[in-house]
Amino acid sequence: MSQIHDMFQTTIAGSLPKPAWLAEPNKLWPAWRASGVELERAKRDATLLWLKEQEDAGIDIVTEGEQSRQHFVHGFLESVDGIDFSRKVKMGIRNNRYDAMVPVVTGPLRLKGRVHEVEARLAREHTGRKLKITLPGPMTIVDTIADEYYRDQFDEPAFNVYLDDVKRWGIDALHRGIEGLKCTTCVHICYGYGIQANIDWKKTLGGEWRQYAEILPALAKSRIKQVSLECIHSKVPIELLKLLKGKDVLVGVIDVASDRVETPEEVSAVIEKALQFVPANHLFPCTNCGMAPMDREVALKKLRALAAGAALARKRFTSNKRRTGKSRTSSRAGRSRPRAAPSPRRAARRK
Ligand code: ZN
Repeated sequence: MSQIHDMFQTTIAGSLPKPAWLAEPNKLWPAWRASGVELERAKRDATLLWLKEQEDAGIDIVTEGEQSRQHFVHGFLESVDGIDFSRKVKMGIRNNRYDAMVPVVTGPLRLKGRVHEVEARLAREHTGRKLKITLPGPMTIVDTIADEYYRDQFDEPAFNVYLDDVKRWGIDALHRGIEGLKCTTCVHICYGYGIQANIDWKKTLGGEWRQYAEILPALAKSRIKQVSLECIHSKVPIELLKLLKGKDVLVGVIDVASDRVETPEEVSAVIEKALQFVPANHLFPCTNCGMAPMDREVALKKLRALAAGAALARKRFTSNKRRTGKSRTSSRAGRSRPRAAPSPRRAARRK
């Protein structure tokens, strides 16, 4: 097992590809290969397999890889009463960017029990590392379901009004979502992956994606501790990261839209760029988004590239600090030593 690092702790957005014996490979909404008890066993096996793979690849904060959910939104909704899964309807989602078969709200919504409790407990029992469990955000849920009961705001909310909605009710909904949680909380925002319609849509957004500029100041004021953003090969201007002052930033250094595996050099270069706007003790190298529909072998190689790139960035950062520390000391002879940057551990204690 690789060691756990103090600085630039690596993690992933959440999902990992499902093995071909668990579900159809390379699909965002795959069919399960088994049912009943056999399916539950297969989900468990796949969860353990990915915990081990992440640890061996050198990922510091691991996830259960979303191996027990067919889709990250519907996996959640299966634990909610008031939704008819036997009646799926075709609906244009993400402002009609693409059609999906979505279940219908037919009665009052209420949680049946703890969502993802089984796999969360399983993962906690089987890894000594920090563990992250992902849940779909309220806005994304609202946009991935058809409503025949409340008939107020559920159907087809347009993406371009979301920017206002984030400020109007999105942050409040997130705060309600984290109520009572004692763990570190994180929100992941991205421009969508996994299907061609998302990739095509992004081509229409122009040379610079500045939507984050609207959302990040609101998130910076929120009670969420960490924000996960796409950075590598993304048209999000990197300087927007400075809008997240005070937050941990999970910087996307692995492209999930391409099968080409990043080199450690490329990963380290993104980390170094982000360091201009995010202090080292707040920077966590991450994937741009989930890796669910990706080829399993490619995903594994990308996990290793993530760890190798973070290792290179650590080495460079440390030797840089040593060098600049020395030169400053010698040029200001007789004065006090320059203040060292706070270590991640000290910073963590201060939170
Ligand atoms: Zn994403």
